[in-house]
Amino acid sequence: MPAPLVVQKYGGSSVAGADRIKRVARRIARERAAGHDLVVVVSAMGDTTDELLGLAAAITDEPDPRELDVLLATGEHQSATLVSMALHAMGVPAISLTGPQAGITTDGTYGRARIAGIEPRRVRAELEGGKVVIVAGFQGRSANSSIDQEITTLGRGGSDTTAVALAAALQADRCQVFTDVRGIYTADPRLVPDARQLPVIGYEEMLELAHQGAQVMQVRAVELGWVNGIVIEVLSSFEDAPGTLIREDPLVEQRDKVRGLAHDRNVAKVTLLAVPDRPGIARSVFAPLADAGINVDMIVQNVGHDGATDLSFTVPRVELARAEKVLNPIVTEMGARGLATDPSVAKVSIVGAGLHNAPGYAARMFGALADAGVNIEMISTSEVRITCVIGEPTLPNALAALHGAFELERPDPVDAEAALPRAG
Ligand code: ADP
Ligand code: ASP
Ligand code: MG
Repeated sequence: MPAPLVVQKYGGSSVAGADRIKRVARRIARERAAGHDLVVVVSAMGDTTDELLGLAAAITDEPDPRELDVLLATGEHQSATLVSMALHAMGVPAISLTGPQAGITTDGTYGRARIAGIEPRRVRAELEGGKVVIVAGFQGRSANSSIDQEITTLGRGGSDTTAVALAAALQADRCQVFTDVRGIYTADPRLVPDARQLPVIGYEEMLELAHQGAQVMQVRAVELGWVNGIVIEVLSSFEDAPGTLIREDPLVEQRDKVRGLAHDRNVAKVTLLAVPDRPGIARSVFAPLADAGINVDMIVQNVGHDGATDLSFTVPRVELARAEKVLNPIVTEMGARGLATDPSVAKVSIVGAGLHNAPGYAARMFGALADAGVNIEMISTSEVRITCVIGEPTLPNALAALHGAFELERPDPVDAEAALPRAG
């Protein structure tokens, strides 16, 4: 019988500096001593990715996307080699591989490439040779015919996706994501001291939390986990404590509570003032934004007066300058009164699979925000969430108010049952 295969991923804070790298190596050695084969995915050390982005920005406003991806990929090369060396120093055979060496191919979108396939021949060979395989996360090689052999990166948080994709391709027995908190909480535990750790969360709810800004797991990693039925265990690399399982939640129908809150500060609001109210206007605004690859999220068009209407929407804050560049000529061309932007807004969301068949959540959410003196600027809803755009300075108050109003610090009675089965 082959040894059980464990894929582990260590995030940036877990490998920030030599001491932490040595601690990670000890954890890996312990797992190996327990008789497991190991593939370990690492993120760049600490704030390396931000620092590299900062360096590029100090050189030019518009870094070449190809060069930027090659630059960013080096962050993960550093940590992968250092973890491998730390294992060597402990007498554990190990080898580091870049994403391309690990057989990860992607589409050709620099900066947010999607994994197209994995051919883990080299990874398997090294495992068979008795080595721990350390894979640099967040990167692959474009298999796109027009730009073959190019290094691409998978978007912020992309090492999560590397880990889940490798677990799927290798049919791993376990997939563990080590981070700087104990698991998935009812809200970001750094902002909400009362946040409660969840023993289990279903893919659908985790996906929605991730979409709405909970950075603890990259959206794409949750999608891949869901599609491939990979149970993802999220846990702390700093302490030995039970984590959270992301997996199919058979009890989801029985839950009648909001499951968690998510927030996102990477939001800016754009308003086109007094836009002429006629067919084709929305297209002339949103088609050029789409062509520029700018993600438009919430859209509100007000009731028209005197043949004109205000049109508001949100874009990622990091894209605001580009959005303005695209929109300025359009505003002039269509004869709108002007363009107003607000970079200091945030989104706050309540998420729960039970939301769609239980009325009253929206009213409770708006009531809690009103009582906390938080002004709501925009609202959007889906089957499993309600999102409000609010002023960023009011975000901590809003989170505290919502956490209390939905009693998220109190365990869901269903959770005790859900926690029982364990990942294979
Ligand atoms: P890593 O470097 O390990 O990938 P990240 O910074 O990407 O770690 O993600 C972990 C962080 O996610 C936590 O420190 C926490 O502040 C944040 N976070 C946001 N929402 C949640 C949540 N619901 N549960 C747990 N952590 C959350
Ligand atoms: N280093 C990359 C980032 O900071 C990828 C990751 O950490 O998952 O986004
Ligand atoms: Mg992360």
